[in-house]
Amino acid sequence: MRSVLNIINPYDPGIFPEDVGEAIQLASNENPYEPSENVKKAYLEALKKINRYPSAHYRKLKEYIADYIGCDISNISVGCGAGELIGRICDCIADELDKVVIPVPSFTLYAIYAMLRNTSIQNPYFPNYEVEADVIAEMRPKLVFLCSPNNPTGNTLNRKTVERIAEFSEYVVLDEAYVEYADESLVDLAMEYENLIVLRSFSKFFGLAGLRIGYCISSPRIAEAIEKVRLPFAISQPAIHCAIAALSDLEYYKKLRDITIQERERLYKELKSFKWLKVFPSKANFIFAKTSIDGLAEMLLERGIIVRSIRSLIGLEGSHVRITVGRREENDILLNALRSIDESIGGKTSTK
Ligand SMILES: *Cc1c(COP(=O)(O)O)cnc(C)c1O
Repeated sequence: MRSVLNIINPYDPGIFPEDVGEAIQLASNENPYEPSENVKKAYLEALKKINRYPSAHYRKLKEYIADYIGCDISNISVGCGAGELIGRICDCIADELDKVVIPVPSFTLYAIYAMLRNTSIQNPYFPNYEVEADVIAEMRPKLVFLCSPNNPTGNTLNRKTVERIAEFSEYVVLDEAYVEYADESLVDLAMEYENLIVLRSFSKFFGLAGLRIGYCISSPRIAEAIEKVRLPFAISQPAIHCAIAALSDLEYYKKLRDITIQERERLYKELKSFKWLKVFPSKANFIFAKTSIDGLAEMLLERGIIVRSIRSLIGLEGSHVRITVGRREENDILLNALRSIDESIGGKTSTK
């Protein structure tokens, strides 16, 4: 086996109800609502055709995505989740010892796939992921991975920062998996900068995490390359049908998004009242907080709630939690659990 495998830590997917029994899932940044009726119908309709391969070029799906984004179909490439596309982008771009720059703290999958290409990875650290374009520009990277809104910190990058990094790097990936929860997308930059790849997913806003659909917006040259290296039938037949139905039901998903944003703002205010949490503002469907209670995630788990504990992520010191914004009633249960924890510790420890 390749020696690089010895130094790659497995991707940590966190705890799932499968591991612990019935629990409220606020750990994986999923959309907490059911799919629209049309998506459910599309899934059942597709069942009749699962003896057939899906259409290999995904033309219809790409047309719907291009329409949603406002670009040409030649700008779109697709894959089995945005996660898979991170790997294929590395396959297309990164050679041995190429300099790959990943500002931290951020999503861990970038480093896993970059390491598999035997690249030379650099992790400039920016407190609270306040990325400084000049620092990255000076590194003259082959490939940069940016994430906005960033997982796990929840903040966004501004247009100037991304533009400047694109000007001084050979290739830039801008991961916009959570962008529908933010105020602005920078996807138009992918039409302006030949070397910029914007990464999107159906797993968050469109609530199709269980079906695995991701896509990239880039120059046609990069889109062709990604299409060349991905698995020929990467997206299943039911997934295609559901993605198209979801794109046709935008109003439904925007309403859910608006509720999630309202709940995010409510949670943010409520969470700030706990002395032992330092809460960061978020433009995604989750909230990130530093905590002085080291076992907070475990205490919540005892109360039937799964949140993401973040203890040893490169670029972060101390204990943090990332809490997905759930449905209103789920968020209420979370807040009650936090209040009971607050009482049990007597409000003694403080992060402030
Ligand atoms: C969830 C997530 C993705 C998308 O993953 P899928 O493979 O499409 O489910 C991509 N990037 C980040 C930062 C994420 O948090």
